[in-house]
Amino acid sequence: MKSNNGKNMSEKKPSQYFCIAPWTHTYLSPQAERRLCCASREKANWQRQYIDAEGSTTEKFDPLSLKEHWNSEHMKSVRKRILDGENIPECQVCNHNILNLYTYRDYFTKTLFPQKVQQALESTDETGFTTMEPISFDYRISNVCSFKCRMCGELFSSAWEAEKRAMNQWDPERDRWMLPENKKLIENFQVNVAEPELWEAAKSGKLEEIYWVGGEPLAYQIHWDIMKYLVETDQASRVTVRYNTNLNRISQKGVNLFELLPKFKNVNMCCSIDATGEIGEWVRSGLNWENWLRNFKSGLFLTKLFGMDAMVMDVTLTLPGMFDVKNLIKLAVDLRVKTYVKITFDFDSAIMMSPMALPRKILNRLCDELIEFEKANGNQYTRIYTETFESMKTRPNFEEKYPDWKEGQIEGKHRLQKIAKYRGDNEAFSMEKILSQDAEVLNWWSSINEKV
Ligand code: SF4
Repeated sequence: MKSNNGKNMSEKKPSQYFCIAPWTHTYLSPQAERRLCCASREKANWQRQYIDAEGSTTEKFDPLSLKEHWNSEHMKSVRKRILDGENIPECQVCNHNILNLYTYRDYFTKTLFPQKVQQALESTDETGFTTMEPISFDYRISNVCSFKCRMCGELFSSAWEAEKRAMNQWDPERDRWMLPENKKLIENFQVNVAEPELWEAAKSGKLEEIYWVGGEPLAYQIHWDIMKYLVETDQASRVTVRYNTNLNRISQKGVNLFELLPKFKNVNMCCSIDATGEIGEWVRSGLNWENWLRNFKSGLFLTKLFGMDAMVMDVTLTLPGMFDVKNLIKLAVDLRVKTYVKITFDFDSAIMMSPMALPRKILNRLCDELIEFEKANGNQYTRIYTETFESMKTRPNFEEKYPDWKEGQIEGKHRLQKIAKYRGDNEAFSMEKILSQDAEVLNWWSSINEKV
């Protein structure tokens, strides 16, 4: 595409920071915030999300439609800076491997849409305006989810939201989206704008990828309706589907997910699990371990159809989860499945579910022990654990990263304790009980109140 002065962006060479997502993909949060993707760090429109940069544009609920967003000043600026080869702050999660070792950028640019790069250059003018349209959707239609994983929160779980309300632990200033008048506006937006936009994409015949995440996507009626529609209209064979699911259910109204998925072009089921058995059920409140394992096993046939990424154990490394990593490794080896590993995102020093809260010496020792175990008992598909633990030995922990780490740890521990009390954790099973597997870790945890 040539702009008014005839300058042709196709002469630009994509730099190492180039990402195809702003030309192909679009993300909507359960609070109707739009982003480049779920990993980008941007300023909120009205309601800050956990990963966002500081600040918001307005205090009022004033969501953009996809049409308004796609070639907005913000999106044009992002594309222009990317084409200028800038390392843009919005993409720091990819630029600095903040969540895991592999970047989301590579997924979009090298795996999903490498064939679109030239088109992106040719379709974009010097203002960043593009004639390309989104063909990959990550629409989190609502926060509905019956789980209350302890490193998650109300933005992504209706069960967490209900608990926060019941505990009176929300702030009408900070959590504006939880005000009843705003909840109504959001629901109205979801029904009258977001869902029709997703349907429009499904019916356009141009859709190439859907990423189903939530909340819990398998609890969305629209998920089942669109998936059936794509199968019934013979479009499934050119659509890639990805999921992040708690795998609590795999069927709805007589339709089984694993009967629909073989019809699609490609499948990537990221099945969240952060520990097995009791620890898993403690970390992921709502999880029934046996049910998860049964559902997971019933989808394993997908790896024969689509390869190892079709059915994956998607692990978020938490502090208590460090004490069940060995079981996760053994299970992955037994089932011959791949694992993805990310570290609990510590966006401040109170995120005590993150293993990076541990003091350096203890953290390195635990990492070394787990590396040794993985090397002795793992396989090529669990090597990601070793790589992640190696990276944790050099990645800054709380003490190295946050000047207020002492105060943050006290606040974070108190928050977890309040939740534990509310959920009725008892001495038989609690954070302390899990951490007591390692005397040094338990001593550190117990001493936190005394640190300031
Ligand atoms: S570089 Fe990463 S954060 Fe930025 S748009 Fe691409 S995938 Fe998203």
